Amino acid sequence: MEFEPLICFEVHAELKTRSKLFCSCAVDPDADPNTHICPVCTAQPGTLPVLNKRAVEFTIMAGLAFNCRINRRAVFARKNYFYPDLPKGYQISQYEHPLCEDGYVEITGDDGKPYKVGIKRIHLEEDAGKLVHEKGYSLVDFNRAGVPLIEIVSDHTRNPIRSLKEAKEYLETVRQTLQYMGVSDCIMEKGQFRCDVNISLRKKGEKGFNERVEIKNMSSFRFILDALQYEIKRQSELLKAGKKIVQETRLFDERKKVTIPMRTKEDAPDYRYFPEPDLVELDISPEFVSLVKEKIPELPAEKVKRFVEKYGISRSDVLILTKQRETADYFERCAEYTSNYKRLSLWVINELFRLLKSDSIGIKECPVKPKAFSELINLLSDGQITEQIAKSILEEMFVSGKDPSEIIKEKDIKVIQEKDVLEQMIKEVIAENQEIVEKIKSGKREAINFLVGQVMKKTRGQANAKLVREMILQQLDYLSL
Ligand code: ZN
Ligand code: MN
Repeated sequence: MEFEPLICFEVHAELKTRSKLFCSCAVDPDADPNTHICPVCTAQPGTLPVLNKRAVEFTIMAGLAFNCRINRRAVFARKNYFYPDLPKGYQISQYEHPLCEDGYVEITGDDGKPYKVGIKRIHLEEDAGKLVHEKGYSLVDFNRAGVPLIEIVSDHTRNPIRSLKEAKEYLETVRQTLQYMGVSDCIMEKGQFRCDVNISLRKKGEKGFNERVEIKNMSSFRFILDALQYEIKRQSELLKAGKKIVQETRLFDERKKVTIPMRTKEDAPDYRYFPEPDLVELDISPEFVSLVKEKIPELPAEKVKRFVEKYGISRSDVLILTKQRETADYFERCAEYTSNYKRLSLWVINELFRLLKSDSIGIKECPVKPKAFSELINLLSDGQITEQIAKSILEEMFVSGKDPSEIIKEKDIKVIQEKDVLEQMIKEVIAENQEIVEKIKSGKREAINFLVGQVMKKTRGQANAKLVREMILQQLDYLSL
């Protein structure tokens, strides 16, 4: 009996606003505990929330990017529950009237075709504070209390996610899109991108739905996929044995890689939602929506398509270059100074990434300026320097931030300035080695390597061997060899 999983996500992403959702405290995940708090976000009596307009714009941007309807009327609601990190005793969220509804996220499905994962809603709400548990006591940090969050809820009835691979693809697409728009940094280690996931199984070909299990508060893609994999195994064994799945919330034990029961449907909290009386209803005009729409930059899928067409590089390389917007921007700034896009992309992906990785820095902090990087690519493409020399120059550029020409001058690297010089050397080598030339002409093609070696010797190894080989063949009029 074969089962298929149906998966849906509730993704919480912290918005990249400068201030919190309802007060002017700064959003700063790296600040010391309780240094960005005020009477509003610590819920002192008599305080009132004032809505952050930018957070509304960001939510609408996400709604538009994920093909949602932007509701004209949106209403904040109180979600009541008690927890030490929630000073008001309720969270201001949106319930019956969220900002965005009925969209989709397009991913590549398991069959290789585009698949539109249904999005039920995207709403705006505030984050809670953070508890830090020490031995024997707990501490609370309210810096995070009131930080704006969007909650993106995927649909389990309309094109749900059907496999672990699609789950990964979905999460990556959502995160990448939010990062591209500057809506959220989505750094999982900082809790800026958190997931709850629902999963149920059904027999392949079946239409109905079985009971769902929810796994709460997952903080890494790896853990999410491990937890889902465990649930698929657990639920299919139960179903095969003719047993029922209990609708419940489970927790993932990251060490043992198993899920454990947390609470059943019966003890699910009753949040007693009601409209937030301290905030007015939102009236989102179509004009406001169009203004927000203009702020959306080129999104990943469009960028991939354009890069493939404009630069003629392979789709797999383009996917690597466009994974982060900053990398794509860097590549495009380089592309203004060279026309050898293929070599440029290879050198960004292989050489530059290697250096960035070994220094653990991002492309934003890259000490090699695009113009200088392309200058190096051009020297290499013109056959003026060898790959080996280009690599060592790049390493030097990475440390000193100097231009390749400066380094070549300083280190007295002998550059083969002109093809003419090389051509002259090749002529000499051919004249000095007539018997070898005869061998080549009589069909011993491998003898060409000897001539290449002789030319390389004359250039003290500083010419491009591939180019030398081509030029020898050209001179011997044996291009077809
Ligand atoms: Zn505050
Ligand atoms: Mn939520």
